[in-house]
Amino acid sequence: MKSNEIKSNQIKIKSKIVEMPAVCFICLETSPPPIQMGCACRGDTGLAHIGCLVRAAESQATHRGLEGWWECRTCKQSFTGAVQRGLAEELWSRVRDQRTESEDRLDAANILAIALSAQCKYVEAEQMRREILEVQRRVLGPEHPETLASTGHLAVSLNSQGKHDEAERMQRELLEVRRRVLGAEHPNTLGSAINVAFSLCSRGKYAEAEQMLRELLFVQQRVLGTEHPETLATMSNLGCGASTHIDNNEQRRHVAP
Ligand SMILES: [Zn+2]
Ligand SMILES: [Zn+2]
Repeated sequence: MKSNEIKSNQIKIKSKIVEMPAVCFICLETSPPPIQMGCACRGDTGLAHIGCLVRAAESQATHRGLEGWWECRTCKQSFTGAVQRGLAEELWSRVRDQRTESEDRLDAANILAIALSAQCKYVEAEQMRREILEVQRRVLGPEHPETLASTGHLAVSLNSQGKHDEAERMQRELLEVRRRVLGAEHPNTLGSAINVAFSLCSRGKYAEAEQMLRELLFVQQRVLGTEHPETLATMSNLGCGASTHIDNNEQRRHVAP
């Protein structure tokens, strides 16, 4: 075959591929056009209708619980984008009228809050987070691990909207409770200390942030070892925090008369 013929065949094949309509991997229909699930599945295996995914989540409920509403069964990655939000809203619409203490309702609220945050809908996410936290405080108690996790999630939502005062207050309370309940060396307590330090740093409270990171580093070196990735991350953050602090002092010296 001559090179010109090969080229022309390649162009034909390419144009055929481009013209192939997108297919939902569940129902194999092309209309309405399926959308990307946003998980790790690629090509036609990553395309589906939300309605088909809803039916799949329903049929998987007995052995997967609510997993089918947020996680791809094939690649085990979370859905993202429009599919994540669409499934989360559909699930919420089905359980929102249940009693507020219902476990399914709390889980659905959490799934929707995650989807809203992922789409930068922080106000709506905060509303969901507050509702979840209120129920958990009442039902599980203020020091239950799930209540504490929700407190941390709410603080993130608040920070995302620039409500740093309330976020910092919540993160400090969370750290205090975790120190008391879990101990200073528990990974969740260390995680809380990092969040408080970042919160302080982002608000220019460099000296306090640095002090906090130094205390954290001391615990990490003792508990995790000097070469653990998290210990190294704190050393790196401490380097940044310290230098920012120095830069800030330097700046003040220049500004001062
Ligand atoms: Zn379909
Ligand atoms: Zn997938």
